[in-house]
Amino acid sequence: MSVQADIVERVAFDVEAVRRDFPILAREVHGKPLVFFDSAASAQKPRQVLEAERRIYEHEYANVHRGIHYLSQICTDRMETAREKVRAFLNAASAREIVFTRNTTESINLVAASWGRHFLKEGDEVVISEMEHHSNIIPWQFLRDEKGILLRVAPVGDDGEFLLNEFAEMLNERTRLVAITHMSNVLGTVVPVRDVVRMAHQAGAKVLLDGAQAVTHIPVDVRDLDCDFYAFSGHKLYGPSGIGVLYAKEALLDAMPPYMGGGEMIRSVTFEAAEWADLPYKFEAGTPAIAQAVGLGAAIDYVTGLGLHAIGAHESDLLAYANQRLASIDGLKLIGTAPGKASVLSFTMSCAHPHDIGTLVDRAGIAIRVGHHCAQPLMDRLGVAATARASFGLYNTRAEIDVLTEALEGVREFFG
Ligand code: PLP
Repeated sequence: MSVQADIVERVAFDVEAVRRDFPILAREVHGKPLVFFDSAASAQKPRQVLEAERRIYEHEYANVHRGIHYLSQICTDRMETAREKVRAFLNAASAREIVFTRNTTESINLVAASWGRHFLKEGDEVVISEMEHHSNIIPWQFLRDEKGILLRVAPVGDDGEFLLNEFAEMLNERTRLVAITHMSNVLGTVVPVRDVVRMAHQAGAKVLLDGAQAVTHIPVDVRDLDCDFYAFSGHKLYGPSGIGVLYAKEALLDAMPPYMGGGEMIRSVTFEAAEWADLPYKFEAGTPAIAQAVGLGAAIDYVTGLGLHAIGAHESDLLAYANQRLASIDGLKLIGTAPGKASVLSFTMSCAHPHDIGTLVDRAGIAIRVGHHCAQPLMDRLGVAATARASFGLYNTRAEIDVLTEALEGVREFFG
């Protein structure tokens, strides 16, 4: 983006106007205005997304791809338009490279079950990192147990930084895949994925990036990154739940066998044999999440309308402000302070268990997440059982961070 366009986006970012797009933000919780700091788990939805889904169901709904009737054609067109929006959002070369799934988890499982099962053999190595979400650990453990591959784990530093040199040392001629998060859901660490991809490719390995968190904060260009697979979920990107995306390079998808069998994914079937449909339908068995795909398209329009750079700048400001405010609370320890991290703030308090923190701040109308955040091996690495996590979205404000700070002061006073 040009410097000038960046400035226009920043100036144009009006958080109060943005907030009016999210009906749920007007509600109260326990008699207090809702402060929603749990967007890393799932983000709230703007009117534009709600209306896109409602329009489909009220005026246009029918099954897609099979019907010649009017509504079926409209819905097919809507869904393929959404796919094209995803393509443009990721700057993929072709819409054939965009597979709709249910979520990031299914996207990663698809790669493991199709590419992994087909192309990996005993002794091959898959590198993940210590800060992976369970959804980028378990599918590879399945493969390890089934095929005898070796799972190697790249370490993170004490501040939650990705240790690139240590990662580089893990690569060798047996490394076939690097499957790594683009941004940690616990630490907020943004992994230097461009370097990761370059190094992995030099070693002859493919790269899968888990973009579940990154995609809402950082503009992603899969061609520029040159990653082989990129996975994300609609629901974290202000879109509906039940829709996710797997981007993969076309040559890989061509070579991969189908993941699930059924309708939609075939060209012809006899009792003896079947031929697969063209990409990406080969990987989309069964009736897809039609309205949800359209809703995801609306969410992409929404965030690109605001500008990912502007959103990122707004969230960086919130993160810096929150760091400063929370640092003033006695006994509060921030977990994950890697330079360049994005808007997730994990912490512990010496006076209270994270679950108690969560319960008390909830009474003040504040939604934060507490627990292991589906990253138990990372908790073990950090030597904590759980953390409290405030995560910021494009609709959050500094005033809400003040409310959180006050509530956490209250937690400290309550537990002494
Ligand atoms: N990867 C990361 C980094 C995540 O934060 C999450 C969800 O929190 C996932 C994967 C899984 O996403 P989903 O539950 O939408 O499949």
